[in-house]
Amino acid sequence: MRVLLIEDDKQIGGGLVAALKAAGMAVDWVRDGPMALEALRDPAYAIALLDLGLPGADGMAVLKASRQQGIETPILIITARDAVESRVAGLDLGADDYLVKPFEVPELLARMRALLRRRRAGQVNSKLSTGEAVLDTATHQFSRGGRMEILSAREYALMRILMEKPGHIFSRAQIEEYIYGWGEEVESNAVEVLIHSIRRKFGKDVILNIRGAGWMVAK
Ligand code: CA
Repeated sequence: MRVLLIEDDKQIGGGLVAALKAAGMAVDWVRDGPMALEALRDPAYAIALLDLGLPGADGMAVLKASRQQGIETPILIITARDAVESRVAGLDLGADDYLVKPFEVPELLARMRALLRRRRAGQVNSKLSTGEAVLDTATHQFSRGGRMEILSAREYALMRILMEKPGHIFSRAQIEEYIYGWGEEVESNAVEVLIHSIRRKFGKDVILNIRGAGWMVAK
């Protein structure tokens, strides 16, 4: 799962990046308003964490502009502004939740989970399936050929992107972009290692290799 962190404070941002990565997420970190709005246009983010006091453009302005532009990424405000007026304004402008600093990481993670659950509850089905393979996006359970297992964060990210578009070929660059954060060290064979691990558990043809183009799951 890919997360956008919008935070100008180096110490807080660094701490959050480490905590989110430890929880298995890919994190991109931007530090000012204009970059935040630019990054929010990328639909790859499952969720964005938005600080309000930002250089360039205030977080409230970023929030307002993003919703006006039709960006639907779930946004959780993280700020030291604890006034009721500020909370109400943030939620009215289209934020999904509001967490006041300082907060503990477990509470942030719990709120992120709750927010994603609420979003998913609007979907009819949390399961993606193709042929005999089924991926449960709520529990990260994957099953195929009589085997069922909860996937690791990166295995899940890989199967999620493939199973959202069966029959569509994804290049290595596309897969890497979806699974890893900016500036994150990616071993040249990282995608192959993940694919090998999934094939070992669920069968060689669970992911098809299209020579010179990339990978896909069959329709
Ligand atoms: Ca700030």
